[in-house]
Amino acid sequence: MARKSVCAEVATCGAVRPDFAKLGKTARGFQQAEKLVLGHAPTIAITPVSDGRGGAYEDNLARTWGMAEKVYDLLMNNVKQPDGSPIRVVVAPEIVYGARTAARAQEYYATQGVSANIWVGRSWSYSDELMGAMMGIGSTEWQQCAYGLNQTDRPGAVWLKAFTAAMDEKKRPIFCVYSPELEDEEAPLSDFVAGRLLRFARCAVAVAYMRGKNYLSIGGVSMGIIGSDVRRNAMLNYFGMGTVSVDQSIINGRLNTGFYDHEEVPKAIAFLKKFKMSMFNKPKDRRNGLSDAQLLETCAKMTLIVRDLMNGNAKLADARYAKKWGFTSNVEYAQGANAIVAGTQGQRQWTDYNPNFDVTESILNSSFDWNGFRSPRVIATENDSKNGVGMLAANLVSGGVPQLFADIRTNWTPSSIKKATGVDVSKICPRGIIDKRNSGAAALDYAVDIFKLVKGSGKMTIQQVWQAICADKKLQDKLIELAIKGTTYMNAALTYFPGDGLSSHFTSPGNMPMTAYRYNMVGELLTCSIVEGETVELPKKVADHITMVTDRTWPETYWTPREMTSFEYMSKIGPNHDGNSFGLIGADLLTFNAMLRIPVDMHNMEKEDIFRPTLWDRFGGDDYRACAFLGPVYV
Ligand code: MN
Repeated sequence: MARKSVCAEVATCGAVRPDFAKLGKTARGFQQAEKLVLGHAPTIAITPVSDGRGGAYEDNLARTWGMAEKVYDLLMNNVKQPDGSPIRVVVAPEIVYGARTAARAQEYYATQGVSANIWVGRSWSYSDELMGAMMGIGSTEWQQCAYGLNQTDRPGAVWLKAFTAAMDEKKRPIFCVYSPELEDEEAPLSDFVAGRLLRFARCAVAVAYMRGKNYLSIGGVSMGIIGSDVRRNAMLNYFGMGTVSVDQSIINGRLNTGFYDHEEVPKAIAFLKKFKMSMFNKPKDRRNGLSDAQLLETCAKMTLIVRDLMNGNAKLADARYAKKWGFTSNVEYAQGANAIVAGTQGQRQWTDYNPNFDVTESILNSSFDWNGFRSPRVIATENDSKNGVGMLAANLVSGGVPQLFADIRTNWTPSSIKKATGVDVSKICPRGIIDKRNSGAAALDYAVDIFKLVKGSGKMTIQQVWQAICADKKLQDKLIELAIKGTTYMNAALTYFPGDGLSSHFTSPGNMPMTAYRYNMVGELLTCSIVEGETVELPKKVADHITMVTDRTWPETYWTPREMTSFEYMSKIGPNHDGNSFGLIGADLLTFNAMLRIPVDMHNMEKEDIFRPTLWDRFGGDDYRACAFLGPVYV
């Protein structure tokens, strides 16, 4: 007789035995899923802890659960997944006060796929002995936070300090939340406490959301740009992400064999025709000889193909659909790369003969297309994967905001502007501006002041502004209408792009808060730069001059950093591209990078906005030493 096992069903521990014989006879297909990019929903645990001694436990029972409830409601009401769906928050089955209650929590968290944990306590607890709650599967990768109540009847702070010290000793970085003011337990969480918990939660959600998903590299290195050298180990070790590479020839293969979504082609073309078009090149001057109509059609099809390469398309696996439209279905190719971010090389091998990717990048990066408002996909120009992953990080911590890819084109000081145009802009942009002008493509949302769409946006975070837009069809329609009105698709300069293309030309409105960021590789070390600032509206004469002497067909955004000259930014930013987000997300990006142990080489955040694990304080706040001591999370 088998000995009594800890597991009730000895053979399988409750898991169902698959019918292997049946599986061996089942043909594969495209398995539909609710989500575009597959992966477990980010799940945060709330672990209430308390003094286990008789009497003390009972005295703390209701108020400890009261804290957990407030944190639960705060997260559920404010933090969303980047696609707008709710995050998962799970709560320990009972208050954790010792090794066995901790083990129960752990067992439960393992079944729930927890990846971040917030400990809440108002009393003394046997700190080190509660860690059993986080010793389960993947716990070294969990993001940890502890919130200790600032009150007098029980020592929430004493527990908090004992606990974070224990975590530091174990090299488990933990974010510490403690109110500077005494807290009223009958009142809602203070702004300070709520702000820190939300920052932790949304960054932990971003970290969990990107994990296990892929960067799709379409093509290789563009014109010697080091950013487009996709560093596969860096993606894996720092972000927990995979990388998939395809040659650009796959796009021609799909164009030539009709391997795309035929029903969507006319919709895409009709949508593009809503924009102003400036087709000033002659077909005979295009190396491929495409007519204007063929150029538009090819750009539309390329957009559909890149979308399918990223996230797959059931129709491409459907033999009947394929037969109807005259191509051959292919289940393998229909799957896509489960990509959460992609890059298109474009220049030069592709663009020397074919239309460029400007329509593809500008439409996919936007929050809308011919099917209406939807989550932006993140696509990096010139396959600059290090900028692409920054755009992804910013997209995730901001709760899904589309991101602006930019060439750092020119630094203009007020004196240079005066010399070139005679106009004095020293009051408009005393610290100078960076002309951010990507070589033809940028999310069309940046043609619009999205803050003006939302009432009271001046007092809202960018996450709240974006949630307001996502919740209101009227605002979405307005955004789409303004973006279309503000954008002109213009032919490309044939000297750069012999195969032509359609650049998305617009000018971003001024006075919008905007954060610039950039990841850099230094040998094997990844670093990040984060600078907050705002867009600038230049006098028409100045803007026209800069446009005409630079490239009039490209999207342009004039930006000035806060408390820093544009020249200082130009001098210190790493490469030729940066990413940019609506809103001020510098503090979120600092926290996000600390979670992934990526040091920040330049930022302009105030001291009180820096929220990093307590372990950083043991290194005197030295981000580089703390990150080096811990190393990347996913090694
Ligand atoms: Mn570029």
